[in-house]
Amino acid sequence: MSSNKQTTANPAQGTIPAPLSNYKIQYTKIFINNEWHDSVSGKKFPVINPATEEKICDVEEGDKADVDKAVKAARAAFQLGSPWRTMDASERGRLLYKLADLVERDRLILATIESMNGGKVFPAAYVMEIGFSVNVIRYFASWADKVQGHTIPVDGKFFSYTRHEPVGVCGQIIPWNFPLNMLMWKIGPALSCGNTVIVKPAEQTPLSALHVASLIKEAGFPPGVVNIVPGYGPTAGAAISSHMDIDKVAFTGSTEVGKLIKEAAGKSNLKRVSLELGGKSPCIVFADADMDNAVEFAHQGVFFHQGQCCTAASRLFVEEPIYNEFVQRSVERAKKYTLGDPLKPGIQQGPQIDKEQHSKILDLIESGKKEGAKLECGGGPWGNKGYFIQPTVFSNVTDDMRIAKEEIFGPVQQIMKFKTLDEVIKRANNTHYGLAAGIFTRDLDKAITVSSALQAGTVWVNCYNMLSPQSPFGGFKMSGNGRELGEYGLHEYTEVKTVTVKISEKNS
Ligand code: NAP
Ligand code: MG
Repeated sequence: MSSNKQTTANPAQGTIPAPLSNYKIQYTKIFINNEWHDSVSGKKFPVINPATEEKICDVEEGDKADVDKAVKAARAAFQLGSPWRTMDASERGRLLYKLADLVERDRLILATIESMNGGKVFPAAYVMEIGFSVNVIRYFASWADKVQGHTIPVDGKFFSYTRHEPVGVCGQIIPWNFPLNMLMWKIGPALSCGNTVIVKPAEQTPLSALHVASLIKEAGFPPGVVNIVPGYGPTAGAAISSHMDIDKVAFTGSTEVGKLIKEAAGKSNLKRVSLELGGKSPCIVFADADMDNAVEFAHQGVFFHQGQCCTAASRLFVEEPIYNEFVQRSVERAKKYTLGDPLKPGIQQGPQIDKEQHSKILDLIESGKKEGAKLECGGGPWGNKGYFIQPTVFSNVTDDMRIAKEEIFGPVQQIMKFKTLDEVIKRANNTHYGLAAGIFTRDLDKAITVSSALQAGTVWVNCYNMLSPQSPFGGFKMSGNGRELGEYGLHEYTEVKTVTVKISEKNS
């Protein structure tokens, strides 16, 4: 491992160091019971750099047999009387704080991995992916000794109280777009509440989770509390969702796979399920909005991380009087990108995650052209290697086009026109999804009316993608079940037990 001395200035975060050059991956095995294991089958799978299409390394491929081993370890760690179950809740918090410190210590390594393996431009990996992850762990660390029940005023001959107990062994299946964030959103609340976990990272991006596994051990978590099994969805992932000895499954990814997970939970042991799925989020710009602010947030809302965000503002509704100017400014903004290797300084857009996503996005772009949308810029692949796509803007988009209905997960903006408030509310809600929404206006009445009417788990007013560890996040309709982050995120990881005790009549 070596580093060069180049740095990038970032006004919000001070100085961002340069990524490590020629970083050699250290952890490629399955992590169970605080030990590294080869896969039971002996199989490995390649992990690819999406900017170069070259192999970074091979990783042990976990499947059902490895998941079974991990469940045994997690179940043993969860037994009554185990070090984890008898630990002072404040000590659980201390371990999570320690983990946050270690992630912060290894920030450069982790940001380099995320940029190389996930195609994320390095400053975004360093500031957002790692920085936000650290904040999330600290937030949940602080809850560990504050999750408490109530005493209940029942018939005076009885004493009744509730305990908020951990659910048990939790399976957590995570996607490739925010590999470290999603890991922390999942293990943070689970560990804070005293559960044990088995994590399956996405097949494309297992490396940062495996590095964190080494930090779990270093922080001092007891063996079996956190287990990480890299592998494929239909094998390792399905083994988790259908397992008879896993008490809860948490999943982030596509709606299609979310349905499979819920079905597998129902057909096995009715384990608890929380899902954070896709979206086709509306962003509504009224004619009275601050134009500069709206253009920039609407742009970032869809182009951040090459469009690979579940919250992507991928249905942009602009009020008629400002439509033409808004399109023109959005196109100018989209044309400003420098594409290339996300580890290099000055690069603002990296590759899509893999060939499959690359082809899917290009197919959707072609459908937009065929169905009559006006291609304003971009519209095709970029470069001769790596999964790059030109920043693309379509205007004159109508609600029936595929690009207005399907989740694209790419750097593609759809701009539609609207005339009235009632019309735009109806159109914005006319989707199976309900993850997020944006509203741009200077009129407070309008902002409150529309934010109440929209069917979305998060509504941003005059901003977009402003997430925080303290604020709950999740979807209405087919964008998911349950909430992550914030106090609400803890509810997914506790069972409420009511205890009612008869008071001896001798003393009354
Ligand atoms: P995906 O298949 O839903 O992947 C998410 C996770 O689920 C991965 O760990 C995946 O494993 C696993 N998985 C796949 N099939 C499974 C099964 N039958 N049982 C249990 N787990 C399973 O998503 P994708 O294929 O990577 O991307 C497809 C689309 O999903 C994207 O175009 C985008 O629209 C959406 N997506 C949404 C989010 C989000 O943040 N909500 C994130 C990623 C993708 P593998 O690694 O083997 O696939
Ligand atoms: Mg997949």
